[in-house]
Amino acid sequence: MSNRTFTIIKPDATRKGNTGVILQMINDAGFRIAAMKMTKLSKEKAGEFYAVHAERPFYGELVEFMSSGTITAAVLEKDNAVEDFRKLIGATNPSEAADGTIRKLFAASIGENAVHGSDSNENALIEGDFFFSKLEQF
Ligand code: GDP
Repeated sequence: MSNRTFTIIKPDATRKGNTGVILQMINDAGFRIAAMKMTKLSKEKAGEFYAVHAERPFYGELVEFMSSGTITAAVLEKDNAVEDFRKLIGATNPSEAADGTIRKLFAASIGENAVHGSDSNENALIEGDFFFSKLEQF
């Protein structure tokens, strides 16, 4: 499964109506959508998803933000998916993101940064399974 990654179009991007254009960029970059759904995280679920950051000072803010509205979660497939998707989305802080990246184009701040992208093959699998059963990943 090393050719898969996991993404979330975050509440800020959803609120701004950028879901369609972001999905188009993902498509144009050669990713195949292997699973996708619109959903909304409870605070509890958002906290669980970002549990790795529980000790970071921004954890509370992150959980508030990620549970503040609708998101689109998706599993994406492409050769070298994790690395190529991180390139497509750009740096965590949009002011440091390369031109043309999703975060450069659509993120407002380091917290409200439009999209999530898995940082390893192992986490891609864990995160995809957090949102989708195996029967929902094609
Ligand atoms: P990513 O892998 O590029 O998403 O970055 P990280 O794993 O370091 O952080 C996870 C998420 O936490 C980021 O995408 C941001 O939404 C949020 N985040 C990271 N740093 C900060 C920060 O300094 N302040 C706030 N409010 N949120 C942050």
